[in-house]
Amino acid sequence: MSGQTDHANLFDDARSRLEEVCQAIDIQGDARERLMQPSLSLQVSVPVRMDDGRLKVFPGWRVQYNTTLGPAKGGIRFHPDVNQEEVTTLSFWMAVKCAVVDLPYGGGKGGVKVDPKQLSKLELERLARGYVRAIADIMGPDRDIPAPDVNTNATVMGWMADEFDHLARGKVPSAITGKPPELGGSLGRVAATGRGALHVLDLWAAREKRKPEETTVAIQGFGNAAYHFARLAHDQGYRIVAVSDSKGAIYSEEGLDPDAIMEQKQRNMRLHEMVYCDDSVCIAENVEKLDRDELLTLEVDVLALAALENQVHEDNVDRVKAGALLEIANGPVSSRADERLEERGVPVLPDVLANTGGVIVSYYEWVQNRSGERWPEEEINRRLAEHLERQSELVFERAEQEEISYRRAAYRQGIERIAHAIELRGNCQDSE
Ligand code: NAD
Repeated sequence: MSGQTDHANLFDDARSRLEEVCQAIDIQGDARERLMQPSLSLQVSVPVRMDDGRLKVFPGWRVQYNTTLGPAKGGIRFHPDVNQEEVTTLSFWMAVKCAVVDLPYGGGKGGVKVDPKQLSKLELERLARGYVRAIADIMGPDRDIPAPDVNTNATVMGWMADEFDHLARGKVPSAITGKPPELGGSLGRVAATGRGALHVLDLWAAREKRKPEETTVAIQGFGNAAYHFARLAHDQGYRIVAVSDSKGAIYSEEGLDPDAIMEQKQRNMRLHEMVYCDDSVCIAENVEKLDRDELLTLEVDVLALAALENQVHEDNVDRVKAGALLEIANGPVSSRADERLEERGVPVLPDVLANTGGVIVSYYEWVQNRSGERWPEEEINRRLAEHLERQSELVFERAEQEEISYRRAAYRQGIERIAHAIELRGNCQDSE
């Protein structure tokens, strides 16, 4: 994506972080070898009949990085910049993330190289169904369970789940998570990533004896993850002074109201019967407009990154003036930039912990689908809060005891768990 690290380097970057963790916690031999490569990588072509009768073929990928702890789990991204390197890196991060929060999952990720905003609703549905047909052989509740990611939402997951049911000749709701509740989706899933990020921020703020009302926050991105984070943080008293999206940024010293901004965007969306909110946050009135990337350099207490990977990099990190960073997106800070922040003593609440709310509630969806239960939203939110508190405290304590960054502590926690499971499984899989 944008930024200074190209896609090939993204995976190298991720692997060098892995190398460093393996050395620090003395993971050698089998586990290290296995973790350096994805276990399965599938490239597909997705033919789509366009509304005007032409056929267009979109390249797509699904990567299962590691499935030692359980079936692969991870979202599907529709974006013009998607490529194999990016999907592989995202699947690696998913493997680490699921292990950091102790879920019985490996890591997976998928994507299609497409600008979905150029497609009609029917074309988008055909693309979603075609992608599922292309990867169906490696999917399933015990093999690989997709979910939403950038530009794919509950509506898209509903089409995908329906397509998988057709192929399976029966109902298999646990094959895909993030579905609409009417089709077996979990209550609370849509807001879960933002809610989870807020829990992690709250837990950290409590340790720092920092009160929400004394904390200013700037948020990069105003999509699914960012909006729910913004709304819940605003309700809790944090002052959201700036938000941005791909088209621009807005600022208000007194604080913005995320619901008012979303309400305006959705009104236009309903009017035009769209699947995505295509309006920018810049439609908000009575606020200052900023250049999109100026938001990254604001003097705020917390900079929440909720757009795409590699947004804070070697060339702009020294202009970042926030007191702390919260990574809601996957990989928004490059490893070089991360080192600089560490040298400057700027705490970073890392993606592999801070954005796990979505996958945790996806796990609850999978459990509900498999058991035929439906849990009330309060119960889901309570479980999510308890789950994140347990795992976050382990990361925070480890960081304190070993005098390392939160990211290093989280990676050590996750990689240690995967490596231990690899050792316990013995040697059978090496002769497959
Ligand atoms: P989304 O498509 O709903 O939103 C992405 C937002 O980022 C949009 O508002 C877009 O305009 C904005 N954006 C894109 N480029 C930008 C730029 N250069 N500057 C500012 N804004 C920009 O996607 P999402 O589901 O909210 O995902 C956002 C991030 O969170 C991704 O990294 C994704 O992998 C990660 N994530 C999402 C979930 C989830 O449950 N949705 C879970 C875990 C992690």
